Amino acid sequence: MRISAKVWNQVFERDKGFCQYCGTDLLVSRATYSAAQVDHVHAVASGGAMEELDNLKLACAICNGSLSRYNHLKTFEARKAIMDEKNKVHEENFQKMVKKLRP
Ligand SMILES: [Zn+2]
Repeated sequence: MRISAKVWNQVFERDKGFCQYCGTDLLVSRATYSAAQVDHVHAVASGGAMEELDNLKLACAICNGSLSRYNHLKTFEARKAIMDEKNKVHEENFQKMVKKLRP
C-alpha cells in the first residue's frame, strides 16, 4: 500500500528524517533517503487508516521490512519494543562483521 507523496513528505518532515524504530538518520546519504519508508502502525489491511498522520511513522527499510511480520501489533509502543529486541541482535551481528573485516 502506498501513500501519497504529500503525506510521505509530511511524515518525513514531522519525524525529522529519523527512523522512529531504530533512530537511523535517513538523511545521511541519498541511498538512505531513497530507501526511507513509512510504517502503518495499525496495518491498512486490518482496518488502519491509510493516510492519517497519527497512524504513520517514518521507518528505514530494515525496520519496515521486519515489521511487516508484526501487523498484529497495532500500537507504536508494541512495534518499537519488538524492533528494539531485533535491532539489538542486528547491531551485534553488524559489529562482529565490522570487527572481522575492518579490524
Ligand atoms: Zn530503522
